[in-house]
Amino acid sequence: LTKQELSALREQFPILQQEVNGKPLVYLDNAATSQKPKAVIERLKRYYLEDNANIHRGVHALSQRATDDYEASRAKVASFIGAKDPGEIVFTRGATESINLVASSLAQSTLQAGDTVLVTEMEHHANIVPWQLLRDRIGIKLATVRVSDSGELDEEDFYLKLESEKPKLVSFVHVSNSLGVINPAKKLISAAHCEGIPVLLDACQSIPHFPVDVQELDCDWLVFSGHKLFGPTGIGVLYGKKDILNSMPPYQGGGDMIESVSFEKTVYKNAPERFEAGTPHIAGAIGLAAAIEFLESMDREALLAHETRLLEAATKGLQTVPGLRIIGESDNKASVISFVMDAAHPHDVASFLDAAGIAIRSGHHCTQPLMIRLGLPGTARASFSIYNTLDEVDALVEELVRIQKFFA
Ligand code: PMP
Repeated sequence: LTKQELSALREQFPILQQEVNGKPLVYLDNAATSQKPKAVIERLKRYYLEDNANIHRGVHALSQRATDDYEASRAKVASFIGAKDPGEIVFTRGATESINLVASSLAQSTLQAGDTVLVTEMEHHANIVPWQLLRDRIGIKLATVRVSDSGELDEEDFYLKLESEKPKLVSFVHVSNSLGVINPAKKLISAAHCEGIPVLLDACQSIPHFPVDVQELDCDWLVFSGHKLFGPTGIGVLYGKKDILNSMPPYQGGGDMIESVSFEKTVYKNAPERFEAGTPHIAGAIGLAAAIEFLESMDREALLAHETRLLEAATKGLQTVPGLRIIGESDNKASVISFVMDAAHPHDVASFLDAAGIAIRSGHHCTQPLMIRLGLPGTARASFSIYNTLDEVDALVEELVRIQKFFA
């Protein structure tokens, strides 16, 4: 991106134009959530000002409009991730709910006591705890794939575990939210499929950064959250292959998910409605579609190249800070840099940076098992998005040098 392009892009994000603690805000906590462009904020506003109504129920004009926009949003998500059919897109509250939906539903269908679910040591808690709940509820087992000392998935161990654990389901993260490491999803999915094992892919941290195509990856389910993709909070996506979704029992019961109800017998709709009981987050879905349109209106290759430049500059810069160690030393990373400093605890690093207007995250990043595996109490994590600048990377490095000097 040229300087002009980047400053035009930043103007789309009014929240960035503020000072924090007397310094220009440098927002480097994008892996936690992204900021929202005007296009999304305006779209939400327009929906509530002009179209708000409940969907799928009314014959009146507003309800028709809201229904059309909600369903058009589903179609937009489907085409964005390369799904065959909008019916393969279920709107949820977020990635967490998407995984819980799959876990709960499979607990009533294909998973039984003694069955194994295979995850990795680098999973977000959202891809661990739902399976542990099933362990307690129906007695499944949880097996894990090793992560190397440098924070990469041990591929050999993945293949071994497919053989030795004979899992009924594999569920893993596309890009680690803690370290930014990119997993070779297509290869791993294909290996699981060779053993006849279906795969759920957690795309929370990949989809904001590079194109993700469900048909190319051939994942059976894919989950992500709208808020990390420039969309609103409270809206997320579960993609599932159509025949798989239609074979799964409902997750929650209520209005909108049924063909007919009597006290004797209730008939459920097919996917996706079967999984969308009750009034959904209509505005959220419409806002998410606006976020996708916003992203699609730009040159995504140029955006990715820009983010790659930011990550490279940050990596080079952080390597010059004495006593700083980057965690996750893969060549294949997406927009996240995690580190620890000899001089200061990650929380102190984050507090000092905040005083300088720089927002990063510190702690375990909802990946406590990964922190235990790496022998760390937590890390400091800077994560980049399309609107960050090389000047912001320089500001981060400068502050880290000051922190190092201060504590040493
Ligand atoms: N998986 C990954 C890899 C994540 O980064 C996150 C969010 N930090 C989640 C799952 C959960 O997403 P949410 O909290 O939006 O449901």
